[in-house]
Amino acid sequence: MAQTTPETLYLEVARRAGRYAAELATRRVAPSPEAVASLERLDRPLPVAGDSDQSILAELDEVGSPATVATASGRYFGFVIGSGLPVATAANWLATAWNQNAALSVMSPVATRLESIAVRWIRELLELPSGAGGVFTSGDTMANVAGLAAGRNAVLRAVGWDVGRQGLFGAPPITVIVGEEVHVSLLRALSILGLGRDRAVRIATDDQGRMKPNELPTLRGPTIICAQAGNVNSGAFDPLGELCDRARASGAWVHVDGAFGLWARASPKYRTLAVGAERADSWAVDGHKWLNVPYDSGIVLVRDPADLQAAMSAGGAAYLPTSAELDPMVYTPEMSRRARGVDAWAVLRSLGRSGVAELVESACRHARRFAERLEAEGFRVLNDVVLNQVLVSFGPSEDTRRVVQAIQRDGTCWCGSTVWHGTAAMRISVSAAATSDADVERAVSAMIRLARG
Ligand SMILES: *Cc1c(COP(=O)(O)O)cnc(C)c1O
Repeated sequence: MAQTTPETLYLEVARRAGRYAAELATRRVAPSPEAVASLERLDRPLPVAGDSDQSILAELDEVGSPATVATASGRYFGFVIGSGLPVATAANWLATAWNQNAALSVMSPVATRLESIAVRWIRELLELPSGAGGVFTSGDTMANVAGLAAGRNAVLRAVGWDVGRQGLFGAPPITVIVGEEVHVSLLRALSILGLGRDRAVRIATDDQGRMKPNELPTLRGPTIICAQAGNVNSGAFDPLGELCDRARASGAWVHVDGAFGLWARASPKYRTLAVGAERADSWAVDGHKWLNVPYDSGIVLVRDPADLQAAMSAGGAAYLPTSAELDPMVYTPEMSRRARGVDAWAVLRSLGRSGVAELVESACRHARRFAERLEAEGFRVLNDVVLNQVLVSFGPSEDTRRVVQAIQRDGTCWCGSTVWHGTAAMRISVSAAATSDADVERAVSAMIRLARG
C-alpha cells in the first residue's frame, strides 16, 4: 500500500531526521530503559495487508529514534565509532533514492566513478604508493579479509600454487605472523581464509601493545606479516617500517590493519606514528570510524591491484562484461553492492585535506584533555596517550567496572570497558567529528562526579 508520492515521503523523513539531529545536543547518549522496552511495540506478527507509508515512518521515528544509542552525538566515546557527517548522510540518501548497484560501471556509471575517485583521494591522503588501488567494503573486517586473501594467493603463487583453482588442501604452508595484541577482526579474517587463528605465530608486544620486531623468527618460505596501525586499547602502532624492512628482505607480504590508526597519516602532526606503512603490500582502513562516513564503510587497498583482482576472481561468466577498469566487483568478495563510495566522496569533498587533518588532530587534542583532567583528579591513565585512545583506571578493577556502569547509566556520555595488562580500564575513544571542547568538558565533569559519587 503506497499512498504518498516519493517526494512527500522524502520531505517527511528529512523533517524527522532533522529533528532527531537537533535533539542530539540535549538527549541522553544511551537510550532510556523505557525507550528500549517500547521496542516491544514493533514486534507484531507479519501483517497480512500492508500499512501506509506515512504510518510506517511515524512508527519508525516515534518508537525507533528514542531507542537509538546517540552515536551521532559528540559525547559517545565507546568502541571506535564516528558520528557521521551530515553532508554524507544527505549524499547517502540521494544515492539510496537512486538505488544504484555499484558492482559494474554499466550498472551505475556514477556510483563506480565516485568510488574510484574516493579511493584515489584516500590513497593520496594516506600517502600510499601511486600504483596502489582498491575498493570499498562493508568495514575493516572485510577489508582485512580481502587484503589478506590477496596476500595469501600472492605468496603461494610465488611458489607455483594457484589458490583460486586449487584451494588450500595440499598447498605449501604459509607462516602467518601477528602481534600478541592483534585485533580480533584480523584473527577472524585468518579463520575465514583457511589460514587458521591458532596457527598464527604470535609475537610478543611491549607495554603499549607494539610488536617487538626483534622477536620475529627468521623469515623463510611463504610468509604474511599482519601489522597493526592503532591498537584498539592504547592507540599504539606496531613498528611498521622495521617490519616492512624485515619482510622485504625475505619476500614476505605485509598487511596493515589500520582501521582507525592509518588516518594518522593524514595529519602532518601525527604522520610519523605510521611511517613505513607505505612500504607494506596491503592496507585495511575504515571509513565509518575516524573519517566519519556513515555506516557502513571500509576500504581495502593493495600495492598491486592485480593481486586483489586475482584473489577475488570468479573465473568469469558469459553475461558479465570483461572490462575491469571501473568495475569494483572484480576487487571485492561481493557482487551486488551499495554505492558506498558516494558517502566517502561527500565527506572528502566537504573536509578537504586540511579538514581531515583537523579531524585527526582535534580528536587527539580531546583525548589528551580527558587524560589531563582525569589525572589531575587523581585517577590513573594507563597508556601513553599518543593518539585518540585513553585508558583510565578508577582504582581496583571492581571500582573501575562500577564507575563505567554508572557512566553508561547516567547518559551524559558513553564509554566502554576493557582489560589492560590484567586490570579493568575504562576506554575513551575520541573519533566523532561532532565532538566539541564543550562535549569533552561535559563528559569529563560527569565522569569525575560519578567516580567520586
Ligand atoms: C574496528 C577495528 C576492526 C574491525 O573493523 P570493522 O569496521 O568493525 O569491521 C579491525 N581492526 C581494528 C584495529 C579496529 O579498530
